[in-house]
Amino acid sequence: MCPESDTIAAVSTAAGAGAIGIVRLSGPEAVDIAARAFIPKGELDVTSVDSHSFVYGHVVEPGSGRVIDEAMLAVMRAPRSYTREDIVELHCHGGPVALRSALQLVVDLGARIAEPGEFTRRAFINGRLDLAQAEGVAGIISARSTGALRVSVRQLGGGLSERLRSVRSELIGTLAVVEANMDFSDEDVEEVDWGSTRQAVSAQRERLGELLATALLGRALQHGVRTAIVGRPNAGKSSLLNALVMRERAIVSELPGTTRDTVEDELEIGGIPIRLVDTAGLRSDGEGVERLGIERSLAALEGADLVLVVVDLAATARDATSLDASVAEGGVPLEGDLRLILGVKDRPCIVVGNKTDLVGRESSAFRELGDWIAAARGVPADEVGAPFCVCEVSARTGEGVAELRECIGEVVSGGSVEMEEPVLVGERQRILVAEAASSLEEALLAIDGSAGDELVAEDLRAAVGALGRVTGEDLGVDLLDEIFGRFCLGK
Ligand code: GDP
Repeated sequence: MCPESDTIAAVSTAAGAGAIGIVRLSGPEAVDIAARAFIPKGELDVTSVDSHSFVYGHVVEPGSGRVIDEAMLAVMRAPRSYTREDIVELHCHGGPVALRSALQLVVDLGARIAEPGEFTRRAFINGRLDLAQAEGVAGIISARSTGALRVSVRQLGGGLSERLRSVRSELIGTLAVVEANMDFSDEDVEEVDWGSTRQAVSAQRERLGELLATALLGRALQHGVRTAIVGRPNAGKSSLLNALVMRERAIVSELPGTTRDTVEDELEIGGIPIRLVDTAGLRSDGEGVERLGIERSLAALEGADLVLVVVDLAATARDATSLDASVAEGGVPLEGDLRLILGVKDRPCIVVGNKTDLVGRESSAFRELGDWIAAARGVPADEVGAPFCVCEVSARTGEGVAELRECIGEVVSGGSVEMEEPVLVGERQRILVAEAASSLEEALLAIDGSAGDELVAEDLRAAVGALGRVTGEDLGVDLLDEIFGRFCLGK
Protein backbone atom coordinates (compact mmCIF):
# COMPACT_ATOMS: atom_id res chain seq x y z
CA MET A 1 0.00 0.00 0.00
CA CYS A 2 1.26 3.44 -0.78
CA PRO A 3 1.91 5.02 2.60
CA GLU A 4 0.35 8.32 1.56
CA SER A 5 -3.06 6.84 0.75
CA ASP A 6 -4.22 6.76 4.36
CA THR A 7 -4.97 9.46 6.88
CA ILE A 8 -2.71 9.75 9.90
CA ALA A 9 -3.42 11.30 13.28
CA ALA A 10 -1.46 12.17 16.40
CA VAL A 11 -1.40 14.44 19.40
CA SER A 12 1.00 17.08 18.11
CA THR A 13 1.62 19.01 21.29
CA ALA A 14 4.02 17.98 24.05
CA ALA A 15 3.01 15.24 26.46
CA GLY A 16 1.52 16.33 29.78
CA ALA A 17 -1.16 18.85 30.64
CA GLY A 18 -1.08 22.18 28.83
CA ALA A 19 -3.51 25.03 28.23
CA ILE A 20 -4.31 23.59 24.82
CA GLY A 21 -3.43 20.35 23.09
CA ILE A 22 -3.70 19.66 19.38
CA VAL A 23 -4.84 16.50 17.62
CA ARG A 24 -3.59 16.71 14.05
CA LEU A 25 -4.84 14.75 11.05
CA SER A 26 -3.24 14.58 7.63
CA GLY A 27 -4.37 12.74 4.53
CA PRO A 28 -7.25 12.40 2.07
CA GLU A 29 -9.86 11.58 4.74
CA ALA A 30 -8.76 14.24 7.21
CA VAL A 31 -11.62 16.65 6.55
CA ASP A 32 -14.30 13.93 6.37
CA ILE A 33 -13.18 12.34 9.63
CA ALA A 34 -13.11 15.74 11.33
CA ALA A 35 -16.58 16.52 10.01
CA ARG A 36 -17.90 13.45 11.82
CA ALA A 37 -16.00 14.10 15.06
CA PHE A 38 -16.61 17.83 15.35
CA ILE A 39 -19.87 19.73 15.61
CA PRO A 40 -19.42 23.42 14.82
CA LYS A 41 -21.53 26.10 16.47
CA GLY A 42 -24.04 27.47 13.99
CA GLU A 43 -24.97 26.20 10.57
CA LEU A 44 -21.51 25.41 9.27
CA ASP A 45 -20.55 22.39 7.18
CA VAL A 46 -17.04 21.35 8.13
CA THR A 47 -16.40 19.69 4.75
CA SER A 48 -16.86 23.01 2.98
CA VAL A 49 -15.13 25.48 5.32
CA ASP A 50 -12.45 27.59 3.67
CA SER A 51 -8.85 26.56 3.87
CA HIS A 52 -6.90 28.21 6.69
CA SER A 53 -9.97 29.04 8.73
CA PHE A 54 -10.64 28.44 12.39
CA VAL A 55 -14.03 27.17 13.58
CA TYR A 56 -15.43 27.01 17.11
CA GLY A 57 -17.39 23.95 18.24
CA HIS A 58 -17.25 20.65 20.14
CA VAL A 59 -15.58 17.30 19.69
CA VAL A 60 -18.47 14.85 19.96
CA GLU A 61 -18.66 11.06 19.77
CA PRO A 62 -21.07 10.52 16.84
CA GLY A 63 -22.84 7.39 18.18
CA SER A 64 -23.53 8.47 21.75
CA GLY A 65 -23.50 12.23 21.26
CA ARG A 66 -21.10 12.41 24.23
CA VAL A 67 -19.17 15.70 24.25
CA ILE A 68 -15.43 15.02 24.60
CA ASP A 69 -14.20 18.62 24.64
CA GLU A 70 -14.88 22.16 23.57
CA ALA A 71 -12.49 22.88 20.71
CA MET A 72 -11.38 24.99 17.77
CA LEU A 73 -10.99 23.32 14.40
CA ALA A 74 -8.43 24.47 11.84
CA VAL A 75 -8.50 23.29 8.23
CA MET A 76 -5.54 23.58 5.86
CA ARG A 77 -6.28 22.13 2.47
CA ALA A 78 -3.76 20.52 0.13
CA PRO A 79 -1.38 21.66 -1.15
CA ARG A 80 -1.15 24.68 1.14
CA SER A 81 -0.26 22.72 4.24
CA TYR A 82 2.77 21.38 6.09
CA THR A 83 2.44 17.93 4.49
CA ARG A 84 0.92 19.25 1.25
CA GLU A 85 -2.07 17.01 2.11
CA ASP A 86 -5.35 18.08 3.72
CA ILE A 87 -4.55 18.81 7.35
CA VAL A 88 -7.08 19.29 10.13
CA GLU A 89 -6.17 20.31 13.64
CA LEU A 90 -8.45 19.98 16.65
CA HIS A 91 -7.32 22.45 19.28
CA CYS A 92 -8.64 20.93 22.50
CA HIS A 93 -8.25 21.83 26.14
CA GLY A 94 -4.97 20.09 26.62
CA GLY A 95 -5.76 17.63 29.41
CA PRO A 96 -4.20 14.26 28.59
CA VAL A 97 -7.51 12.40 28.99
CA ALA A 98 -9.47 14.69 26.66
CA LEU A 99 -6.68 14.55 24.08
CA ARG A 100 -6.46 10.76 24.23
CA SER A 101 -10.24 10.50 23.83
CA ALA A 102 -10.23 12.88 20.85
CA LEU A 103 -7.38 10.92 19.24
CA GLN A 104 -9.17 7.61 19.90
CA LEU A 105 -12.29 9.06 18.31
CA VAL A 106 -10.59 10.03 15.04
CA VAL A 107 -8.89 6.63 14.96
CA ASP A 108 -12.31 4.94 15.41
CA LEU A 109 -13.49 7.02 12.48
CA GLY A 110 -10.75 5.71 10.19
CA ALA A 111 -7.48 7.53 10.87
CA ARG A 112 -4.30 5.65 11.66
CA ILE A 113 -1.98 6.68 14.51
CA ALA A 114 1.06 8.33 12.94
CA GLU A 115 4.55 6.93 13.31
CA PRO A 116 7.14 9.24 14.90
CA GLY A 117 8.11 11.90 12.35
CA GLU A 118 5.50 10.78 9.84
CA PHE A 119 4.04 14.26 9.26
CA THR A 120 7.49 15.61 8.45
CA ARG A 121 8.23 12.53 6.37
CA ARG A 122 5.16 13.29 4.26
CA ALA A 123 6.30 16.91 3.99
CA PHE A 124 9.58 15.60 2.62
CA ILE A 125 8.04 13.01 0.27
CA ASN A 126 5.61 15.58 -1.11
CA GLY A 127 8.45 17.99 -1.81
CA ARG A 128 7.54 20.53 0.85
CA LEU A 129 10.94 20.15 2.57
CA ASP A 130 14.25 18.63 1.63
CA LEU A 131 16.03 16.36 4.04
CA ALA A 132 18.35 18.95 5.54
CA GLN A 133 15.30 21.13 6.15
CA ALA A 134 13.43 18.22 7.72
CA GLU A 135 16.38 17.77 10.05
CA GLY A 136 16.00 21.46 10.82
CA VAL A 137 12.46 20.68 12.01
CA ALA A 138 13.85 17.91 14.24
CA GLY A 139 16.40 20.40 15.51
CA ILE A 140 13.74 22.99 16.33
CA ILE A 141 11.72 20.42 18.25
CA SER A 142 14.70 19.36 20.30
CA ALA A 143 16.54 22.70 20.47
CA ARG A 144 17.77 23.37 23.98
CA SER A 145 19.36 26.74 23.37
CA THR A 146 18.71 29.88 21.38
CA GLY A 147 21.81 29.15 19.29
CA ALA A 148 20.57 25.68 18.35
CA LEU A 149 17.17 27.15 17.55
CA ARG A 150 18.67 29.84 15.30
CA VAL A 151 20.69 27.27 13.41
CA SER A 152 17.69 24.92 13.01
CA VAL A 153 15.41 27.69 11.81
CA ARG A 154 18.00 28.69 9.23
CA GLN A 155 18.32 25.08 8.17
CA LEU A 156 14.56 24.88 7.78
CA GLY A 157 14.82 28.01 5.66
CA GLY A 158 17.19 26.09 3.40
CA GLY A 159 20.54 27.80 4.20
CA LEU A 160 22.51 24.57 4.47
CA SER A 161 20.68 22.98 1.54
CA GLU A 162 21.48 25.94 -0.67
CA ARG A 163 25.15 25.78 0.19
CA LEU A 164 25.30 22.03 -0.47
CA ARG A 165 23.34 22.26 -3.71
CA SER A 166 25.65 24.94 -4.97
CA VAL A 167 28.73 22.80 -4.27
CA ARG A 168 27.00 19.79 -5.78
CA SER A 169 25.96 21.58 -8.95
CA GLU A 170 29.48 22.98 -9.45
CA LEU A 171 30.81 19.44 -9.14
CA ILE A 172 28.20 18.09 -11.56
CA GLY A 173 29.38 20.72 -14.05
CA THR A 174 33.00 19.57 -13.66
CA LEU A 175 31.95 15.92 -13.86
CA ALA A 176 30.04 16.59 -17.09
CA VAL A 177 33.18 17.95 -18.74
CA VAL A 178 35.24 14.93 -17.65
CA GLU A 179 32.54 12.47 -18.74
CA ALA A 180 32.07 14.14 -22.10
CA ASN A 181 35.74 13.62 -22.68
CA MET A 182 35.40 9.92 -21.76
CA ASP A 183 32.34 9.28 -23.91
CA PHE A 184 33.46 11.13 -27.00
CA SER A 185 37.21 10.87 -26.71
CA ASP A 186 37.64 9.72 -30.30
CA GLU A 187 35.36 12.45 -31.61
CA ASP A 188 36.00 16.10 -31.95
CA VAL A 189 35.57 17.06 -28.29
CA GLU A 190 37.94 19.46 -26.61
CA GLU A 191 40.48 17.85 -24.31
CA VAL A 192 39.84 18.29 -20.59
CA ASP A 193 41.81 21.22 -19.22
CA TRP A 194 43.16 19.47 -16.14
CA GLY A 195 44.55 22.68 -14.67
CA SER A 196 41.18 24.37 -14.44
CA THR A 197 39.47 21.10 -13.46
CA ARG A 198 41.85 20.80 -10.56
CA GLN A 199 41.15 24.36 -9.55
CA ALA A 200 37.39 23.80 -9.68
CA VAL A 201 37.57 20.61 -7.57
CA SER A 202 39.92 22.19 -5.09
CA ALA A 203 37.63 25.22 -4.64
CA GLN A 204 34.68 22.97 -3.79
CA ARG A 205 36.86 20.89 -1.47
CA GLU A 206 37.64 24.10 0.37
CA ARG A 207 33.97 25.04 0.70
CA LEU A 208 33.22 21.60 2.17
CA GLY A 209 36.14 22.07 4.55
CA GLU A 210 34.56 25.29 5.80
CA LEU A 211 31.30 23.46 6.41
CA LEU A 212 33.06 20.61 8.20
CA ALA A 213 34.71 23.10 10.52
CA THR A 214 31.23 23.98 11.79
CA ALA A 215 30.52 20.38 12.83
CA LEU A 216 32.06 20.89 16.25
CA LEU A 217 29.84 23.88 16.92
CA GLY A 218 26.92 21.89 15.53
CA ARG A 219 27.62 19.10 17.99
CA ALA A 220 27.97 21.61 20.81
CA LEU A 221 24.65 23.20 19.86
CA GLN A 222 22.91 19.86 19.72
CA HIS A 223 24.33 18.04 22.69
CA GLY A 224 25.74 20.85 24.78
CA VAL A 225 29.37 21.30 25.69
CA ARG A 226 30.13 18.80 28.42
CA THR A 227 32.04 20.82 30.96
CA ALA A 228 33.62 19.11 33.96
CA ILE A 229 34.19 21.15 37.10
CA VAL A 230 37.05 19.53 38.97
CA GLY A 231 39.24 20.54 41.87
CA ARG A 232 40.37 19.55 45.32
CA PRO A 233 37.71 19.05 47.98
CA ASN A 234 36.38 22.36 49.28
CA ALA A 235 37.86 24.39 46.43
CA GLY A 236 34.32 25.64 45.78
CA LYS A 237 33.18 23.52 42.82
CA SER A 238 29.56 23.27 43.95
CA SER A 239 29.51 26.96 44.85
CA LEU A 240 30.86 27.83 41.41
CA LEU A 241 28.25 25.65 39.70
CA ASN A 242 25.59 27.51 41.67
CA ALA A 243 27.09 30.89 40.82
CA LEU A 244 27.18 30.00 37.13
CA VAL A 245 23.63 28.70 36.94
CA MET A 246 22.46 31.17 39.59
CA ARG A 247 20.48 28.53 41.39
CA GLU A 248 20.94 26.46 44.49
CA ARG A 249 21.32 23.27 42.54
CA ALA A 250 24.32 21.55 44.03
CA ILE A 251 24.60 21.04 47.74
CA VAL A 252 27.28 23.25 49.22
CA SER A 253 28.90 21.90 52.32
CA GLU A 254 31.69 22.86 54.72
CA LEU A 255 33.11 19.34 54.89
CA PRO A 256 35.77 18.34 52.37
CA GLY A 257 34.64 15.64 49.98
CA THR A 258 30.93 15.83 50.65
CA THR A 259 29.87 16.20 47.03
CA ARG A 260 29.49 12.45 46.71
CA ASP A 261 28.04 12.17 43.29
CA THR A 262 28.20 14.13 40.10
CA VAL A 263 25.66 16.91 39.71
CA GLU A 264 24.68 18.16 36.28
CA ASP A 265 23.21 21.46 35.26
CA GLU A 266 22.81 23.36 32.06
CA LEU A 267 23.32 26.98 31.17
CA GLU A 268 23.55 28.91 27.95
CA ILE A 269 26.44 31.08 26.90
CA GLY A 270 26.39 32.93 23.58
CA GLY A 271 23.52 30.71 22.46
CA ILE A 272 25.46 27.51 23.13
CA PRO A 273 24.21 25.04 25.75
CA ILE A 274 26.87 24.29 28.36
CA ARG A 275 26.36 21.14 30.43
CA LEU A 276 28.16 21.58 33.71
CA VAL A 277 29.17 18.51 35.63
CA ASP A 278 30.30 19.04 39.21
CA THR A 279 32.45 16.18 40.39
CA ALA A 280 33.52 14.98 43.76
CA GLY A 281 36.90 16.30 44.88
CA LEU A 282 39.87 14.68 43.22
CA ARG A 283 42.05 13.24 45.97
CA SER A 284 44.31 10.28 45.59
CA ASP A 285 44.12 9.31 49.26
CA GLY A 286 40.34 9.08 49.33
CA GLU A 287 38.62 5.96 50.53
CA GLY A 288 35.21 4.32 50.24
CA VAL A 289 32.53 6.63 48.94
CA GLU A 290 35.08 9.36 48.35
CA ARG A 291 37.12 7.01 46.18
CA LEU A 292 34.06 6.16 44.15
CA GLY A 293 33.50 9.90 43.71
CA ILE A 294 37.06 10.32 42.50
CA GLU A 295 36.59 7.56 39.94
CA ARG A 296 33.52 9.38 38.68
CA SER A 297 35.52 12.61 38.52
CA LEU A 298 38.20 11.04 36.41
CA ALA A 299 35.53 9.56 34.16
CA ALA A 300 33.86 12.97 33.84
CA LEU A 301 37.22 14.45 32.94
CA GLU A 302 37.63 11.81 30.24
CA GLY A 303 34.35 12.59 28.53
CA ALA A 304 34.58 16.37 28.93
CA ASP A 305 34.77 18.81 26.04
CA LEU A 306 35.96 21.51 28.45
CA VAL A 307 37.42 21.38 31.96
CA LEU A 308 37.14 23.99 34.68
CA VAL A 309 39.78 23.38 37.34
CA VAL A 310 38.75 25.19 40.50
CA VAL A 311 41.63 26.26 42.70
CA ASP A 312 41.08 27.53 46.24
CA LEU A 313 43.26 30.64 46.27
CA ALA A 314 43.08 30.91 50.04
CA ALA A 315 44.45 27.39 50.42
CA THR A 316 47.03 27.97 47.69
CA ALA A 317 48.20 31.07 49.57
CA ARG A 318 48.56 28.95 52.69
CA ASP A 319 50.49 26.30 50.77
CA ALA A 320 52.54 28.84 48.87
CA THR A 321 55.51 28.86 51.18
CA SER A 322 56.05 25.14 50.95
CA LEU A 323 55.46 25.18 47.20
CA ASP A 324 57.86 28.07 46.80
CA ALA A 325 60.42 26.08 48.67
CA SER A 326 60.04 23.11 46.36
CA VAL A 327 60.25 25.33 43.27
CA ALA A 328 63.34 26.99 44.75
CA GLU A 329 64.89 23.56 45.14
CA GLY A 330 64.43 23.09 41.43
CA GLY A 331 61.57 20.66 41.76
CA VAL A 332 58.10 21.35 40.45
CA PRO A 333 55.24 20.78 42.87
CA LEU A 334 53.14 18.06 41.35
CA GLU A 335 50.67 17.64 44.16
CA GLY A 336 47.12 18.89 44.36
CA ASP A 337 45.98 21.60 42.00
CA LEU A 338 48.97 21.48 39.74
CA ARG A 339 48.80 17.75 39.29
CA LEU A 340 45.17 18.12 38.37
CA ILE A 341 45.83 20.93 35.89
CA LEU A 342 48.56 18.96 34.20
CA GLY A 343 46.29 15.91 34.16
CA VAL A 344 43.88 17.78 31.89
CA LYS A 345 46.56 17.56 29.17
CA ASP A 346 45.57 19.19 25.88
CA ARG A 347 41.84 19.42 26.48
CA PRO A 348 40.44 22.98 26.53
CA CYS A 349 40.83 24.05 30.13
CA ILE A 350 40.10 27.08 32.25
CA VAL A 351 41.79 27.38 35.61
CA VAL A 352 39.46 29.21 37.96
CA GLY A 353 41.07 30.78 41.01
CA ASN A 354 38.25 30.91 43.56
CA LYS A 355 37.65 32.81 46.81
CA THR A 356 39.06 36.17 45.70
CA ASP A 357 36.97 37.65 48.53
CA LEU A 358 39.48 36.10 50.92
CA VAL A 359 42.75 36.89 49.16
CA GLY A 360 41.93 39.75 46.75
CA ARG A 361 42.08 39.66 42.96
CA GLU A 362 45.33 39.20 41.12
CA SER A 363 46.57 37.42 44.19
CA SER A 364 50.19 36.50 44.24
CA ALA A 365 49.20 32.87 44.78
CA PHE A 366 47.37 32.83 41.46
CA ARG A 367 50.19 34.48 39.57
CA GLU A 368 52.59 31.99 41.01
CA LEU A 369 50.32 29.19 39.99
CA GLY A 370 50.70 30.40 36.39
CA ASP A 371 54.46 30.30 36.77
CA TRP A 372 54.34 26.80 38.20
CA ILE A 373 52.22 25.55 35.36
CA ALA A 374 54.61 27.07 32.86
CA ALA A 375 57.56 25.54 34.66
CA ALA A 376 55.90 22.13 34.81
CA ARG A 377 55.10 22.28 31.13
CA GLY A 378 58.59 23.47 30.40
CA VAL A 379 57.46 26.62 28.60
CA PRO A 380 57.91 30.36 29.28
CA ALA A 381 55.23 31.85 31.57
CA ASP A 382 53.51 33.73 28.73
CA GLU A 383 53.25 30.57 26.65
CA VAL A 384 51.38 28.37 29.06
CA GLY A 385 49.69 27.05 25.99
CA ALA A 386 46.28 27.34 24.42
CA PRO A 387 43.61 26.29 24.75
CA PHE A 388 44.19 27.30 28.29
CA CYS A 389 43.19 30.34 30.26
CA VAL A 390 42.86 31.53 33.80
CA CYS A 391 40.11 33.44 35.60
CA GLU A 392 39.72 34.74 39.12
CA VAL A 393 36.33 34.64 40.82
CA SER A 394 34.55 34.59 44.09
CA ALA A 395 31.79 32.03 43.91
CA ARG A 396 30.47 33.52 47.14
CA THR A 397 30.15 37.18 46.08
CA GLY A 398 29.80 36.56 42.35
CA GLU A 399 32.84 38.71 41.56
CA GLY A 400 34.43 37.68 38.25
CA VAL A 401 31.69 35.18 37.37
CA ALA A 402 30.50 37.23 34.38
CA GLU A 403 34.08 37.30 33.03
CA LEU A 404 34.31 33.55 33.53
CA ARG A 405 31.13 33.09 31.47
CA GLU A 406 32.65 35.18 28.68
CA CYS A 407 35.83 33.17 28.87
CA ILE A 408 33.84 29.91 28.57
CA GLY A 409 32.00 31.33 25.55
CA GLU A 410 35.23 32.24 23.81
CA VAL A 411 36.89 28.92 24.45
CA VAL A 412 33.85 26.98 23.22
CA SER A 413 33.13 28.89 20.03
CA GLY A 414 36.82 29.32 19.25
CA GLY A 415 35.85 32.99 19.29
CA SER A 416 35.49 32.84 15.54
CA VAL A 417 32.63 30.69 14.27
CA GLU A 418 29.94 32.81 12.71
CA MET A 419 26.56 31.35 13.57
CA GLU A 420 24.84 33.15 10.70
CA GLU A 421 26.59 30.77 8.32
CA PRO A 422 25.19 27.29 7.68
CA VAL A 423 26.18 24.84 10.40
CA LEU A 424 26.35 21.06 10.08
CA VAL A 425 24.29 19.47 12.81
CA GLY A 426 24.08 15.78 13.46
CA GLU A 427 26.34 12.89 12.64
CA ARG A 428 24.55 11.97 9.43
CA GLN A 429 25.29 15.31 7.80
CA ARG A 430 28.84 15.42 9.10
CA ILE A 431 29.69 11.92 7.87
CA LEU A 432 28.28 12.53 4.40
CA VAL A 433 30.02 15.88 3.93
CA ALA A 434 33.28 14.35 5.20
CA GLU A 435 32.78 11.51 2.71
CA ALA A 436 32.29 13.99 -0.13
CA ALA A 437 35.36 15.96 0.96
CA SER A 438 37.55 12.87 1.00
CA SER A 439 36.28 11.81 -2.43
CA LEU A 440 37.33 15.22 -3.72
CA GLU A 441 40.75 14.72 -2.19
CA GLU A 442 40.98 11.40 -4.03
CA ALA A 443 39.97 13.19 -7.20
CA LEU A 444 42.72 15.77 -6.68
CA LEU A 445 45.26 13.00 -6.16
CA ALA A 446 44.02 11.26 -9.31
CA ILE A 447 44.38 14.50 -11.28
CA ASP A 448 47.86 15.14 -9.88
CA GLY A 449 48.92 11.60 -10.68
CA SER A 450 47.38 11.78 -14.19
CA ALA A 451 45.40 8.69 -13.23
CA GLY A 452 42.97 9.21 -16.08
CA ASP A 453 39.48 10.58 -16.54
CA GLU A 454 37.74 7.33 -15.48
CA LEU A 455 39.14 7.51 -11.94
CA VAL A 456 38.58 11.24 -11.58
CA ALA A 457 34.99 10.85 -12.73
CA GLU A 458 34.41 8.05 -10.26
CA ASP A 459 35.60 10.19 -7.33
CA LEU A 460 33.53 13.15 -8.46
CA ARG A 461 30.46 10.93 -8.78
CA ALA A 462 31.02 9.64 -5.23
CA ALA A 463 31.18 13.20 -3.91
CA VAL A 464 28.06 14.25 -5.82
CA GLY A 465 26.25 11.17 -4.46
CA ALA A 466 27.20 11.85 -0.85
CA LEU A 467 26.10 15.49 -1.07
CA GLY A 468 22.83 14.40 -2.67
CA ARG A 469 22.17 12.18 0.30
CA VAL A 470 22.44 15.12 2.71
CA THR A 471 19.55 16.97 1.09
CA GLY A 472 17.77 13.73 0.18
CA GLU A 473 18.03 13.82 -3.60
CA ASP A 474 19.48 10.34 -3.49
CA LEU A 475 18.00 8.16 -0.74
CA GLY A 476 16.62 4.72 0.04
CA VAL A 477 13.41 4.09 1.99
CA ASP A 478 15.26 2.37 4.86
CA LEU A 479 17.26 5.49 5.46
CA LEU A 480 14.07 7.55 5.52
CA ASP A 481 12.63 5.24 8.17
CA GLU A 482 15.72 5.72 10.23
CA ILE A 483 15.85 9.48 9.89
CA PHE A 484 12.18 10.20 10.54
CA GLY A 485 11.93 7.51 13.19
CA ARG A 486 14.05 9.74 15.40
CA PHE A 487 11.34 12.40 15.52
CA CYS A 488 8.84 12.59 18.34
CA LEU A 489 5.30 11.41 17.78
CA GLY A 490 3.00 13.90 16.12
CA LYS A 491 5.68 15.82 14.21
P1 GDP B 1 33.52 21.72 46.70
O1 GDP B 1 33.86 20.65 47.68
O2 GDP B 1 34.70 22.01 45.81
O3 GDP B 1 32.28 21.46 45.91
O4 GDP B 1 33.34 23.06 47.54
P2 GDP B 1 31.97 23.79 48.02
O5 GDP B 1 31.36 24.52 46.89
O6 GDP B 1 31.15 22.79 48.74
O7 GDP B 1 32.59 24.87 48.97
C1 GDP B 1 33.39 24.54 50.08
C2 GDP B 1 33.38 25.65 51.10
O8 GDP B 1 34.00 26.82 50.58
C3 GDP B 1 31.98 26.08 51.51
O9 GDP B 1 32.01 26.41 52.86
C4 GDP B 1 31.73 27.32 50.67
O10 GDP B 1 30.83 28.20 51.30
C5 GDP B 1 33.12 27.92 50.63
N1 GDP B 1 33.29 28.75 49.43
C6 GDP B 1 33.08 28.42 48.14
N2 GDP B 1 33.36 29.44 47.31
C7 GDP B 1 33.79 30.47 48.11
C8 GDP B 1 34.23 31.82 47.85
O11 GDP B 1 34.28 32.30 46.71
N3 GDP B 1 34.58 32.55 48.92
C9 GDP B 1 34.54 32.06 50.18
N4 GDP B 1 34.89 32.88 51.18
N5 GDP B 1 34.12 30.82 50.46
C10 GDP B 1 33.75 30.02 49.45
